[in-house]
Amino acid sequence: MNMLEAKCPICNKRARVLDDMSRVVCDCGYEDEYDAYLEKMKDRIYSMVEEFMLNGQDKI
Ligand SMILES: [Zn+2]
Repeated sequence: MNMLEAKCPICNKRARVLDDMSRVVCDCGYEDEYDAYLEKMKDRIYSMVEEFMLNGQDKI
């Protein structure tokens, strides 16, 4: 696994992480600090889990 690859939160394609891990850059124009990128992805995962929990509640 290549640690210097990231998934773009905008277009879901592969984004590049700069060698010094300072920024994430994507061809679609998305560019962000690596820390901010991680926060974004974390938020996405949390909201996905939240949605799953809400939708799955009836079945429990
Ligand atoms: Zn992108």
